[in-house]
Amino acid sequence: MIRHDNRSPGDLRTIEIQSGIAPHAQGSVLVAFGNTRVICAAMIEESVPRWMKDQNVTGGWLTAEYSMLPYSTISRKTRDSTKGRPDGRGTEIQRLVGRSLRAVVDLEKLGSRTLWVDCDVLQADGGTRTAAITGASVAVELACRSLVQQGKLAALPIKNRVAAVSVGIVQGEVLVDLDYHEDKDAEVDMNIVMTDKMDFVEVQGSGEESVFSAVQLEAMVAAAKGGIAKLLEIQNAALETP
Ligand code: UDP
Repeated sequence: MIRHDNRSPGDLRTIEIQSGIAPHAQGSVLVAFGNTRVICAAMIEESVPRWMKDQNVTGGWLTAEYSMLPYSTISRKTRDSTKGRPDGRGTEIQRLVGRSLRAVVDLEKLGSRTLWVDCDVLQADGGTRTAAITGASVAVELACRSLVQQGKLAALPIKNRVAAVSVGIVQGEVLVDLDYHEDKDAEVDMNIVMTDKMDFVEVQGSGEESVFSAVQLEAMVAAAKGGIAKLLEIQNAALETP
């Protein structure tokens, strides 16, 4: 099957990771998965949440926030602050981003600090959460490098890198990195988060309008692994660029 943008089923969109786009953050990137573009910034605060002190929990903390800018969607999305309540979808996504990063950051080695990870969608065209996780992994590593450069840490408090991709079934075919056009027609929609050791961090999958078989599940996981491997190469290149 040739996709509407001429991709083969296993192809990612054009992926770009541009670092240093928000200089006040110790780590920042603008990540593009095709027309989906997300700003990911990591800032370090030299303290930990109150509950950690109260409960004598050692080490640091990492927390993530996700939002879509009002002009990131085709019809303007009202800001949560104007609406007066947080968006359920955004809350779910920021928890996923936080869990994904906490799986790979060594919070004990981070010391008594909080890593704030902010993901703001500049342009939404499907896969904003997978782009956010993939970009945030780079932003967090850049922020941690600054701690090492300043002599605050002897080594990077990072166990692994993490990347994520969407995979779905459209007209019976497994497609990787769906854009919005494909996502809205998908029979099954999954988001797969993996480390650079190719271990799973999280698998979110649901039959939106239909069910899926174990064979289809295996095919989706295999296709996602191919996409994750390419994303890891692109992260690596972004982190090697001075
Ligand atoms: N979307 C939108 N407005 C919203 C939520 C979603 O325009 O309030 C679009 C957007 O293009 C997004 C896509 O729907 O990327 C798919 O959303 P989903 O909730 O599946 O999350 P994502 O694929 O972005 O991680």
